Amino acid sequence: MASIALKTFTGLRQSSEKTPHFAVQRPTKTHFQKARIVASKTSPKLGNRNLRVAVIGGGPAGGSAAETLAKGGVETFLIERKLDNCKPCGGAIPLCMVGEFDLPLDIIDRKVTKMKMISPSNVAVDIGRTLKPHEYIGMVRREILDAYLRDRAAENGAKVINGLFLKMDLPGDRNAPYLLHYTEYNGTKGGVGEKKTLEVDAVIGADGANSRVAKSIGSGDYEYAIAFQERVRIPEDKMAYYENLAEMYVGDDVSPDFYGWVFPKCDHVAVGTGTVTHKGDIKKFQLATRNRARDKIMGGQIIRVEAHPIPEHPRPRRLSGRVALVGDAAGYVTKCSGEGIYFAAKSGRMCAEAVVEGSENGKRMVEESDLRKYLEKWDKTYWPTYKVLDLLQKVFYRSNPAREAFVEMCADEYVQKMTFDSYLYKTVVPGNPLEDLKLAVNTIGSLVRANALRREMEKLSS
Ligand SMILES: Cc1cc2nc3c(=O)[nH]c(=O)nc-3n(C[C@H](O)[C@H](O)[C@H](O)COP(=O)(O)OP(=O)(O)OC[C@H]3O[C@@H](n4cnc5c(N)ncnc54)[C@H](O)[C@@H]3O)c2cc1C
Repeated sequence: MASIALKTFTGLRQSSEKTPHFAVQRPTKTHFQKARIVASKTSPKLGNRNLRVAVIGGGPAGGSAAETLAKGGVETFLIERKLDNCKPCGGAIPLCMVGEFDLPLDIIDRKVTKMKMISPSNVAVDIGRTLKPHEYIGMVRREILDAYLRDRAAENGAKVINGLFLKMDLPGDRNAPYLLHYTEYNGTKGGVGEKKTLEVDAVIGADGANSRVAKSIGSGDYEYAIAFQERVRIPEDKMAYYENLAEMYVGDDVSPDFYGWVFPKCDHVAVGTGTVTHKGDIKKFQLATRNRARDKIMGGQIIRVEAHPIPEHPRPRRLSGRVALVGDAAGYVTKCSGEGIYFAAKSGRMCAEAVVEGSENGKRMVEESDLRKYLEKWDKTYWPTYKVLDLLQKVFYRSNPAREAFVEMCADEYVQKMTFDSYLYKTVVPGNPLEDLKLAVNTIGSLVRANALRREMEKLSS
């Protein structure tokens, strides 16, 4: 499935901060012309100081950006409003993130090697059968992962400020500084905090879905899903079932356009769901998800309830002057899977690399064209992935019969291998032509069966 779709879109690229939506905008001639702008090295050398960059937000995007900047010789400030932030999140990360970001294994709660996809009629398909012995999906608690990445940035020289970013004054001329306004908190003293300002040469907005940095530069809005999650502590014998297993539930009851999940954590499971189209019904969908998993989480105690927006597509504008957005602030969550942690960390790092390179390791002022290189690289690398997952969501999450067909297809080992390889390694996996053909026929078969089923259901209900 994934391979067929991926091939269709490989080679297309989306570029420029003006592209509002991966799903609808194709690159135009103008986009390509813009993408060809080459950084002029007319920016001044900085003399007796290094480039100063503020990263706003200390989630995976901010932590990774700050680490890369600090290692690259840039004077780095990381402003995070809550150093013990517990981001509402399923916490599933792909295997490649562990290697690429050199994550220690002790921050990973569970190594999931079995994934059950459960259809509207409760047909369960094991979709991890093709995993190799060393392969797994990592399950992390965000308070642990985020703190780890932030601390590592600090060890490499970033100055971490516990503060709430409020707004910024834009520079009056080409090389003038941005003036950031924030409230600094003192963790030990508590209280309302102290109003402060900071002058920097560039800003990376990593402050998540409700980004104030995005507002400061007029980035425009995006459509978003609301995701709801309960952390449920379940009896030990029940926890044993989820030792290395995660579940995904699909159906109109759990979400009209997303999926419900049960993900295992160290001593509890995270049960959640999301929706874009029926936000007002989110609690109803959450109850349905809990009901579907009822037998397996019976006797559990809800220890935390959390909800947060998930962006649906990139913001219309992700760059302005020497300010760039990364992670959720930019809108980098994939549809269908709702995955954003890896893309946040990766975009933070990629943006910081562009700053380090453009500033010649902090020795020179940067320009918008230096930061634009990050956007070009990002869009070129990930546009096909976003497009494919967008398409899959449209085809398979639109009705219960389509979801039944989807789960049926997931039983195919070839589908599993392609899907897991794409997820775990974030690469476009080359397919096997014969298997692709077989799969295309099977997919059509599943959809035809699903539609026939739907027609029968409609007849019965009319
Ligand atoms: C319920 C739910 C489940 C999810 N499950 C998964 C999953 O299983 N796997 C996956 O890959 N993705 C998942 N996601 C998506 C994932 O959580 C995000 O894509 C990811 O957190 C984005 O990282 P980020 O660093 O860009 O932003 P965030 O993680 O949102 O971090 C932003 C940081 O900025 C700080 N901040 C915000 N405003 C300010 C300010 N004004 N001043 C200072 N600091 C500020 C915040 O405190 C926060 O620490 C899920 C999302 C939700 C809501």
